[in-house]
Amino acid sequence: MLPGISPRLSSGLWIVVCALLFPAPQSGAAVPAASNNPNEWFEAFKAEATDEELYQFLYAMPKGGDLHNHLSGSIISEWFYDLALAQQANGYRYFTRVRSNNCRPYGENAFSDSPYLMMFVNIQESRYRALDACEQGEYLPLEELDEVQKAGWLDSLRLDKPHEGRDEFFQTHWQRMGDLYFNPYVAADALVLNMQEFGSEGLMYLESMIGVNGFITPEGKGLTPDEVAQIYRARLQDDDAQATGVSVRLQVAILRFHPDAEEHLKAHYDFVSRNNDLFVAVNMVGREDDDKGYPLRFLPTLRELRREYHNVRLSIHAGEVDEPNSHVRDTLLLGADRIGHGVNLIGDPETMRLMRHGPYLVEINLISNLLLDYVDDYGQHPFPEYLRTGIPVALSTDDRGMWDSNLTDEFFVAVKEFNLSWQELVLLSRNSLQYSFAPEALKTQMLQRLDIRLEDFARQLATRPAAVLAEDAHSYGFLCDHYELCNWP
Ligand SMILES: [Zn+2]
Repeated sequence: MLPGISPRLSSGLWIVVCALLFPAPQSGAAVPAASNNPNEWFEAFKAEATDEELYQFLYAMPKGGDLHNHLSGSIISEWFYDLALAQQANGYRYFTRVRSNNCRPYGENAFSDSPYLMMFVNIQESRYRALDACEQGEYLPLEELDEVQKAGWLDSLRLDKPHEGRDEFFQTHWQRMGDLYFNPYVAADALVLNMQEFGSEGLMYLESMIGVNGFITPEGKGLTPDEVAQIYRARLQDDDAQATGVSVRLQVAILRFHPDAEEHLKAHYDFVSRNNDLFVAVNMVGREDDDKGYPLRFLPTLRELRREYHNVRLSIHAGEVDEPNSHVRDTLLLGADRIGHGVNLIGDPETMRLMRHGPYLVEINLISNLLLDYVDDYGQHPFPEYLRTGIPVALSTDDRGMWDSNLTDEFFVAVKEFNLSWQELVLLSRNSLQYSFAPEALKTQMLQRLDIRLEDFARQLATRPAAVLAEDAHSYGFLCDHYELCNWP
């Protein structure tokens, strides 16, 4: 553990949310009588339970793993602020842009890598020192933000306004994060925070996509991917990480439309292969509506790589796009065992038919797809069609920090919108381990542990059903904005 970093960083808002949202369940108010049949019990429960009680039930339920989780997008804004300040213990100090002094009136437009006019861009001290006096005057140290500035900073990293959608997400969030993205200690601590929170939600596995390239020291000197991996490895050995009971494996991602994406793919294969104790897979990310990243572009490179490497798995974003196309089919041809999103698979019936009861899993991200406008409402989402025609699916969180949500929220949305049964909840939880890239021995052990936990949970339904409603459940902003789960008594 790093000096000066408490295991559970919390902001004032976070504490308030924890304290207010979830009172202890009223002794069995809407909880059906005990039953030996969890399917029947859950149907009766859904018919009677309030949204709060349903959430408490889903929070407590054992849930397997999260297979689609971008670490940099998984950081709740309040955590991010605290993590950034805590980095002073590691020699990093951050500044954020809070005003424009019109220092570069004809500078880069909004689409450059570092758009001049964007507020709340974060830079580390070494970069701040290199600015001229005019631009330095636009920045404040993070620890000196007043209340209004801090609220703006926190909001700048999440999609919480109706007008914020896909463009805001893809074109401003990572740009604003700036140097904070390239601090390996922030990433390592954020990983452990996620493990803690997911552990309390009943997860036992996390397979995060995490960066290893471009990381820098406080002086601005580059760190190699292997040095970054070593920082992650060491952090995961710390007591607070081990205490979560959550096993972790990592993926590295390439930006699919980058001009040098093939070279990145080769370098990432080599990196994962050499760091296979912790890193298991390569992913491809980035806007799929940028045709420069079309899936079959990578077929020759992957065929070349497969001649040499035997220990690198592939999960690839595909079908996260509005138009019907064959991206999911083409991505399976690339050798992917899992498909991220798969929203437009519904428009490719031949591939859908082949995926029924098949070996490939679609990682479903319900909240992401709504907030990024890939569906206008859940009536358009193909998830129930996949689930109920036997296409393997699991629920995952994608960029939960930017949605201000957690995995229980994904289950809550799925139950509310698609009337999931107990058997379907169990299937989704098992799939999230069965289709993981964890080593076989770990996977077998986790699946056995999940079955035991689910049996224990079902046994409680047969004895003391009110006890399964989690008293420590807590949620974030998404459910407040979209399901009015915020003004609880
Ligand atoms: Zn994703």
